[in-house]
Amino acid sequence: MISVPSPAGPLTDRVSGPTEDEWAAAVAAIEAVPAGGRVLLLCHVNPDGDALGSMLGFGLGLCRLGGRQVQAAYPGGQQLPPALHGMPGAHLLVAPHEVWSDPDLVLCFDVASASRLGTLADRMSAPTSIVVDHHASNTRFGGIHLVDPGAAATSVVVQGLLDRLGVPLDVQIAECLYIALVTDTGSFRFEMTTPAVHELAARLLATGVAPAQIARRVFDSRPFGAVRLFGAVLQRSVLEPTAAGGRGLVWTYATLADLETYDQQPYVLEALIDSVRCTVEADVSCVLKQVAEATWAVSMRSKGGVDVSRVAVALGGGGHRLAAGFTGVGAAPDVIQAIRAELD
Ligand code: 5GP
Ligand code: MN
Repeated sequence: MISVPSPAGPLTDRVSGPTEDEWAAAVAAIEAVPAGGRVLLLCHVNPDGDALGSMLGFGLGLCRLGGRQVQAAYPGGQQLPPALHGMPGAHLLVAPHEVWSDPDLVLCFDVASASRLGTLADRMSAPTSIVVDHHASNTRFGGIHLVDPGAAATSVVVQGLLDRLGVPLDVQIAECLYIALVTDTGSFRFEMTTPAVHELAARLLATGVAPAQIARRVFDSRPFGAVRLFGAVLQRSVLEPTAAGGRGLVWTYATLADLETYDQQPYVLEALIDSVRCTVEADVSCVLKQVAEATWAVSMRSKGGVDVSRVAVALGGGGHRLAAGFTGVGAAPDVIQAIRAELD
């Protein structure tokens, strides 16, 4: 396995992006794939706009370079989530059981730790692997690391890599990268939205990407049953002003029974946290989404007073300072109690 030394120091102190050596090693590794060689692209389980947009945008870029075979995959499925239907490059997706066992090169996108690759984590033992990510909590589990905790989205790192490979942006690549950027920045509202982010967005839009269409598809489309489901779940929200050392916690939960009552699929719940986190009386917001009898996918957000990635990591998950998550085990009140305890 090719390995490039990375700057030393605690993970959370590393705020700079990839070194020139790391960029050069990644470009060299990609260019070294022989004609007809197999390049495998991976992203994390339950992929979001940044994971899929970064992976497929890069995949299309690699196809433009030509000469290599390209597969894209994530653990647990082969489909685009409904909110991302129409994303270019979806034809590169293969089911996990079809993924090559012996690729020449593996790149993974938006993956902070190997566990987020599930059943596909073993592919990282390919002769060369490149981790492309922007999580400060990245555990640097590959051979070459393009990790920029200062990047608003993994797609920002991908755009840098495509530039260095000499791949010109076209409207399809740009649509993937734009969806990644607009989802991870919360439509350019979150704190990482720098002037450079808008400059990148301008480059993407200049190719002909249609932002209004994308926004409607990705953020503003929901079945009527989901509108009613949100009503029921938001109605049972709990505000705890004294939690999180007085900064306040607001939380709610959605069960599998709720999904059945309103005839909805789990993906619709992903937008729920955005309605809960509006609560001005709480710095921290939290949504528990039941995935099995005593198992919950937990989403956490902070307005700035609390590092929720610390809480998520302590409870077995990960994420960013202001947006993180983990898998909670037990009854909902027990999971909330564990969060409360970590927050205090
Ligand atoms: P969301 O709440 O939107 O599902 O996730 C917010 C962020 O938290 C994601 O970008 C991801 O970095 C992180 N995250 C969410 N769930 C998990 C999890 O179960 N494990 C880890 N390691 N990170 C998670
Ligand atoms: Mn991301």
